[in-house]
Amino acid sequence: MATGWTGDNAVNEQIDATVKDGIRRAQSRLPHGKPLSQCANCGAAIPEARRSAVPGVRLCIACQESDDGDTAQFSGYNRRGSKDSQLR
Ligand SMILES: [Zn+2]
Repeated sequence: MATGWTGDNAVNEQIDATVKDGIRRAQSRLPHGKPLSQCANCGAAIPEARRSAVPGVRLCIACQESDDGDTAQFSGYNRRGSKDSQLR
């Protein structure tokens, strides 16, 4: 992050831009950023073991598997992935 802190508005704009950029990058599935405690897709809790095992993890196991299967459909909407309901 840049170190130019010139004022409240600039800071807010920078934070806003950083967050938006972060979301964009996360949706590109790049393994950057902090691990999330909740799935970015369905909001399910991500076990601490998974967070420590997968750097920058953002998805629960069910969503990750689904995302790996059809990347093109991942758009951040609330999809409650259940392994039991997914026919493969
Ligand atoms: Zn999930």
